Amino acid sequence: MIDLVFADESIVLRPTVVRVDIRALEHNFRMLRSLVGKTRVMATVKANAYGHGLVRTAQEFLRLGADELGVAFLEEGIVLRKAGVTAPILVLGGIIGNQIAHFLEYDLQITASSVLKIRQIDETAAALGRRAQVHLKIDTGMGRIGVRPESAPALFDAAVEAKHCDIRGVFTHFSASHAADPGFTRMQLERFLEATRYFERHSLPMPLRHAANSAAVLQHPEAILDMVRPGIMLYGVYPSAETRRTVELRPALSFLTRVVYFKSIPAGAPLGYDHTWVAPVGTRIVTLPVGYGDGYSRKLSNNADVLIHGKRYPVVGMISMDQCMVDIGGDSAFNGDEVVLIGRQGEECITVEEIAERIGTIPYEVLTSIGHRVPREYIA
Ligand SMILES: *Cc1c(COP(=O)(O)O)cnc(C)c1O
Repeated sequence: MIDLVFADESIVLRPTVVRVDIRALEHNFRMLRSLVGKTRVMATVKANAYGHGLVRTAQEFLRLGADELGVAFLEEGIVLRKAGVTAPILVLGGIIGNQIAHFLEYDLQITASSVLKIRQIDETAAALGRRAQVHLKIDTGMGRIGVRPESAPALFDAAVEAKHCDIRGVFTHFSASHAADPGFTRMQLERFLEATRYFERHSLPMPLRHAANSAAVLQHPEAILDMVRPGIMLYGVYPSAETRRTVELRPALSFLTRVVYFKSIPAGAPLGYDHTWVAPVGTRIVTLPVGYGDGYSRKLSNNADVLIHGKRYPVVGMISMDQCMVDIGGDSAFNGDEVVLIGRQGEECITVEEIAERIGTIPYEVLTSIGHRVPREYIA
């Protein structure tokens, strides 16, 4: 069964698609459960669910047993609420004062990362006659948002005084849990646990303590605590080459297109902008209706393979905004033939890691770069 999801009806006929394998999501969620047991799970679905399509992917994770969802921005939370998602949603990123009313209106949990912000949240909640659900953010070494451990007691004091706020959670984020060396992560975890002892010392109920991203779930079981916030592993991709592969994950995403044009060219014929590639011998070229405007990076020009009929062929010439070319040598291909940019075809496979390595980035960026004009389809 294939479901199509598209922002705009007009792109439904596009031959370029992201295909998401729901069974792979299920498998990865089972693997997560094998590591965390009954611990609460906040499935991280920011950035269009790492390119997999925000709403449908979030719904699948909830169906599979995720307890909460994590997003980066207010707008992502609002999209989920408007789609009818009722599960708790935490916006993990920083907030700006005038957003708070919208958090309350859409029942989104707020990250409070300073004394000033907790006071702003409390004032807005009081003015609107609502209660705010907050998670307090401690910066144990990431250096992005949150108070440093020595300032945590002041943040906690302010949160306890904030009469219109429920302190649902307290959390931190690891900056190197994907590394081979566990030292920094252990130090961050220690700082975090020490800060949260505040609640015991003051005989206050302990909020949900959460810290573990995918890499910590995979290789730092001591960081699982009361809730985990996995992202990339749920999509079947390991956080880094160094991360220990303690469970087997299955990539859920394929990036597919189809041949839209076929031609033979003579030796010496240049191809594409700036003629960065000139045919060394007479050959056959197919054109694909996909380009950097879809997130197929221009850095892959003359620097990637695609799969056609289960065989690898090189991308030649500059990738344009909406098109690119492939040299199929003496082979043949027809208009409409399927082409795999990322994914499996027959015995061959092009992984997200391969693409990331070729362009000097990490799998996260490859996945989240695939654009909104590419329709997402789901197979079960
Ligand atoms: C993105 C993010 C996660 C998930 O990270 P993965 O490495 O994809 O598992 C968890 N927590 C926070 C705060 C994040 O920003």
